[in-house]
Amino acid sequence: MKEIKYPITGACQCGEVTYQLTEPPLVVIACHCRECQKLSITAFSITALANTTAVTFKGDLKEWRRIADSGNVNGAKFCGTCGNRFFHFNPAEPDKLKLKSSNLSHTQIINPTMHVWVSQK
Ligand SMILES: [Zn+2]
Ligand SMILES: [Zn+2]
Repeated sequence: MKEIKYPITGACQCGEVTYQLTEPPLVVIACHCRECQKLSITAFSITALANTTAVTFKGDLKEWRRIADSGNVNGAKFCGTCGNRFFHFNPAEPDKLKLKSSNLSHTQIINPTMHVWVSQK
Protein backbone atom coordinates (compact mmCIF):
# COMPACT_ATOMS: atom_id res chain seq x y z
CA MET A 1 0.00 0.00 0.00
CA LYS A 2 1.31 3.43 -0.97
CA GLU A 3 1.83 5.93 1.80
CA ILE A 4 -0.89 8.57 1.98
CA LYS A 5 0.30 12.16 2.27
CA TYR A 6 -1.99 14.45 4.25
CA PRO A 7 -3.94 16.63 3.75
CA ILE A 8 -6.13 14.77 1.30
CA THR A 9 -9.21 16.20 -0.37
CA GLY A 10 -12.72 15.03 -1.11
CA ALA A 11 -15.70 16.28 -3.08
CA CYS A 12 -19.32 15.35 -3.65
CA GLN A 13 -20.54 14.04 -6.98
CA CYS A 14 -21.48 17.49 -8.32
CA GLY A 15 -18.36 19.15 -6.90
CA GLU A 16 -20.17 21.98 -5.12
CA VAL A 17 -18.86 20.93 -1.71
CA THR A 18 -15.20 20.08 -1.19
CA TYR A 19 -13.29 19.15 1.93
CA GLN A 20 -9.89 18.45 3.34
CA LEU A 21 -8.71 15.85 5.83
CA THR A 22 -5.44 16.80 7.49
CA GLU A 23 -4.63 13.61 9.42
CA PRO A 24 -5.36 9.87 9.19
CA PRO A 25 -8.77 8.76 10.45
CA LEU A 26 -8.79 7.19 13.92
CA VAL A 27 -10.46 4.02 12.64
CA VAL A 28 -12.24 2.90 9.46
CA ILE A 29 -15.39 0.89 10.08
CA ALA A 30 -17.71 -1.10 7.84
CA CYS A 31 -21.20 -0.83 9.32
CA HIS A 32 -23.76 -3.45 8.32
CA CYS A 33 -26.79 -1.97 10.11
CA ARG A 34 -30.13 -1.42 8.33
CA GLU A 35 -29.67 2.36 8.32
CA CYS A 36 -26.32 2.07 6.59
CA GLN A 37 -27.76 -0.35 4.06
CA LYS A 38 -30.40 2.25 3.21
CA LEU A 39 -27.89 5.06 3.19
CA SER A 40 -25.42 3.38 0.89
CA ILE A 41 -28.14 1.61 -1.10
CA THR A 42 -26.02 -1.52 -0.82
CA ALA A 43 -25.03 -4.07 1.84
CA PHE A 44 -23.04 -1.85 4.19
CA SER A 45 -21.46 1.59 4.52
CA ILE A 46 -17.90 2.58 5.26
CA THR A 47 -17.23 5.19 7.88
CA ALA A 48 -13.94 6.81 8.86
CA LEU A 49 -13.99 8.16 12.38
CA ALA A 50 -12.00 11.42 12.46
CA ASN A 51 -11.30 14.31 14.79
CA THR A 52 -13.54 17.28 13.93
CA THR A 53 -10.45 19.52 14.00
CA ALA A 54 -8.91 17.47 11.16
CA VAL A 55 -11.68 18.23 8.66
CA THR A 56 -12.55 21.48 6.90
CA PHE A 57 -15.42 21.97 4.47
CA LYS A 58 -16.01 24.47 1.70
CA GLY A 59 -19.49 24.89 0.28
CA ASP A 60 -23.09 24.63 1.41
CA LEU A 61 -23.89 21.63 3.61
CA LYS A 62 -27.48 20.67 4.37
CA GLU A 63 -28.39 18.86 7.59
CA TRP A 64 -30.78 16.08 8.56
CA ARG A 65 -31.21 14.49 12.01
CA ARG A 66 -32.81 11.35 13.33
CA ILE A 67 -32.99 9.67 16.75
CA ALA A 68 -31.12 6.35 16.79
CA ASP A 69 -32.40 3.26 18.64
CA SER A 70 -29.89 4.10 21.38
CA GLY A 71 -31.63 7.45 21.92
CA ASN A 72 -28.63 9.35 20.55
CA VAL A 73 -29.19 12.04 17.96
CA ASN A 74 -27.69 11.05 14.63
CA GLY A 75 -27.00 14.11 12.51
CA ALA A 76 -26.07 13.94 8.85
CA LYS A 77 -24.49 16.53 6.60
CA PHE A 78 -24.83 16.33 2.85
CA CYS A 79 -24.60 18.37 -0.34
CA GLY A 80 -27.83 20.29 -0.94
CA THR A 81 -27.44 19.95 -4.70
CA CYS A 82 -26.49 16.33 -5.41
CA GLY A 83 -27.39 14.83 -2.03
CA ASN A 84 -24.03 13.08 -1.56
CA ARG A 85 -23.52 12.32 2.13
CA PHE A 86 -20.36 13.70 3.80
CA PHE A 87 -20.52 12.76 7.44
CA HIS A 88 -22.63 11.80 10.41
CA PHE A 89 -22.25 13.25 13.87
CA ASN A 90 -23.64 13.13 17.36
CA PRO A 91 -24.27 16.69 18.62
CA ALA A 92 -23.39 15.42 22.13
CA GLU A 93 -19.90 14.48 20.90
CA PRO A 94 -18.85 17.46 18.78
CA ASP A 95 -15.16 16.51 18.72
CA LYS A 96 -15.64 13.48 16.42
CA LEU A 97 -17.05 13.08 12.90
CA LYS A 98 -18.07 9.92 11.11
CA LEU A 99 -16.83 10.63 7.63
CA LYS A 100 -18.41 8.90 4.65
CA SER A 101 -14.93 8.49 3.28
CA SER A 102 -15.86 7.08 -0.13
CA ASN A 103 -15.79 10.57 -1.65
CA LEU A 104 -12.17 11.21 -0.68
CA SER A 105 -9.65 11.32 -3.51
CA HIS A 106 -7.49 8.63 -1.88
CA THR A 107 -9.63 5.54 -2.08
CA GLN A 108 -6.99 3.62 -0.10
CA ILE A 109 -8.69 5.10 2.94
CA ILE A 110 -11.79 3.07 2.14
CA ASN A 111 -10.23 0.06 3.81
CA PRO A 112 -12.19 -0.96 6.89
CA THR A 113 -10.37 -2.63 9.78
CA MET A 114 -13.49 -3.16 11.87
CA HIS A 115 -16.96 -4.53 11.14
CA VAL A 116 -19.98 -3.59 13.23
CA TRP A 117 -23.67 -4.61 13.21
CA VAL A 118 -22.79 -7.88 11.46
CA SER A 119 -26.00 -9.32 12.96
CA GLN A 120 -27.95 -7.35 10.33
CA LYS A 121 -25.62 -8.29 7.51
ZN1 LIG B 1 -22.87 17.95 -4.61
ZN1 LIG C 1 -24.68 1.58 10.36
